[in-house]
Amino acid sequence: MTSAHFPVRPRRYFHSRLPKEAQRSMENHVGSHESEAFAGFSAAFKSFATEAIHVGQEPEQWTSMAVVPPISLSTTFKQHAPGKHAGFEYSRSGNPTRNCLEKAVAALDGAKYCLAVASGLAATVTITHMLKAGDGIICMDDVYGGTNRYFQRIAAEFGLQITLVDCTKLDLLTAALKPNTKMVWLETPTNPTMKVVDIRACSDLVHHHNKDIVVVVDNTFMSAYFQRPLALGADICMYSATKYMNGHSDVVMGLLSMSREDLYDRLKFLQNALGGVPSPFDCFLLNRGLKTLHLRMERHFKNAMAAARFLEADSRVERVIYPGLPSHPQYEVVKRQCTGCPGMITFYIKGDLKHAETFLSGLKMFAVAESLGGYESLAEHPAIMTHASVPEKERTILGISDTLIRLSVGLEDEADIIEDLDQALNAAHPKKK
Ligand SMILES: *Cc1c(COP(=O)(O)O)cnc(C)c1O
Repeated sequence: MTSAHFPVRPRRYFHSRLPKEAQRSMENHVGSHESEAFAGFSAAFKSFATEAIHVGQEPEQWTSMAVVPPISLSTTFKQHAPGKHAGFEYSRSGNPTRNCLEKAVAALDGAKYCLAVASGLAATVTITHMLKAGDGIICMDDVYGGTNRYFQRIAAEFGLQITLVDCTKLDLLTAALKPNTKMVWLETPTNPTMKVVDIRACSDLVHHHNKDIVVVVDNTFMSAYFQRPLALGADICMYSATKYMNGHSDVVMGLLSMSREDLYDRLKFLQNALGGVPSPFDCFLLNRGLKTLHLRMERHFKNAMAAARFLEADSRVERVIYPGLPSHPQYEVVKRQCTGCPGMITFYIKGDLKHAETFLSGLKMFAVAESLGGYESLAEHPAIMTHASVPEKERTILGISDTLIRLSVGLEDEADIIEDLDQALNAAHPKKK
């Protein structure tokens, strides 16, 4: 079934090749987290960095023994005889560079399989094509705007029934399950209000009701380094790899990981049959970005934690929502299900729209821009920018007010990040003489 002629190496492959002594020392290893921000969180996933760097990248797969996977641009592959090919036929159905990336991501998600598609939304569309008219989808009420738009304005037109539910409340999820429910779509933490869903509790509840309901988690905000939805009971883990997984704000891509063979077979078929595949060049870049995912996420966490603490202690700020702070309503769930937190911070500045706008215009290092998860710090105003398409009434219910500001804290020096936030707060709230 897989287009690769190199079987996916079993997990712990590198581990098992190490001398006994080294294996023992790795078993005692509880993650590479150095920053005190990680105190109380689940331990880092074992051998994550090693797998990010080596799985799927074996030089032996190329006759050149290239250490870095080449960008394989050929759209077609020579066959020994009609129907007798060396693992690849046509680049939409399978590409050597894409293959390397998919194997690496599968390892990082603790999954058997991964499929790469052209964008996060292409991943959502591909998954939804497993359903048919009349089927029901339960979707977390506060999801990425494009997910909401696709479900409500496109999938619904094709006869799918979409029910929006606040899945942080398990009784609401239970009440929403219907005989036609085929998929439950979770996103955690949500954007921009950072609601956290208990993936384990939701997956158990849904699968207890009907084991065939597919639980999907949009893992974009956490990345594979901080959260493994499959290990928590979900059936599919999806990403907008455009964000943290790539981390360099120069690729648009989507990823789906799963361990269930039936889901893989169906989604692999859909990846090819729907055709929304990424280019080999983008696969090369994303594969490269993954090599530093662990380093980047640790620094995002350290910087964001410092920024969140600074904002929370500041009298010019009304409220900070950051899953890494004990003040987060679901802090206990976060510590249990995550190994750390990303660079996404939401806060309410004191005052009104004018104060929010002055703060954003006053930023010098942070760029005012949409998107997130890159090495550079970004700030945005959801009510005016990313969430402008959400009707004002819904925005109010979700808490997306005129004073809400979203930060994507990057990898710059901590002191410079805080200095920029401080001086922009000063611009919004000049100190009285
Ligand atoms: C950006 C984003 C998406 C959509 O991904 P694209 O790569 O832009 O298509 C989906 N989910 C979340 C949480 C996102 O942030």
